[in-house]
Amino acid sequence: MVIHQYTDLEIRLRIGPLFKPCLNMMGARDAWKYVGEMTKILEQSAGLGLAANQVGLDIPIFLIRFDTIQVVYRPKILWMSQKYETQSEACLSLPNRSVLVSRPVSLKAEFIAFPNNKRKTMEFEGLSARVFMHEFDHLKGRTILDN
Ligand SMILES: [Zn+2]
Repeated sequence: MVIHQYTDLEIRLRIGPLFKPCLNMMGARDAWKYVGEMTKILEQSAGLGLAANQVGLDIPIFLIRFDTIQVVYRPKILWMSQKYETQSEACLSLPNRSVLVSRPVSLKAEFIAFPNNKRKTMEFEGLSARVFMHEFDHLKGRTILDN
């Protein structure tokens, strides 16, 4: 498993898993099989998050890294703030690019948490909300270039 990085042509033509939504709603126990390798890749990178389609998988799962790594499977946004903030973002799949992206400053989301398969509700603020939305967008096939 490696991070797929895209060429200018691939980006222009929107070719590859990065530009497609993750739709394989497999059972959580099957999804967890990929967590170990995704964790390793994220830890070895300079990134704060990693979505499944960045490594070629079609599963709605992503990891975000702060003090610890949070695994997020099948996320739903329950609420987001009216207030937005614009900041520069980069992406492990889109080397040498950074784009100004407007994101809500806080949000509340629900997802299946690793490893107990229980639905978990969590609030995110500031940078963590930004990273959450960046990865959430990946699962929909959207990147920072779509903002
Ligand atoms: Zn990204």
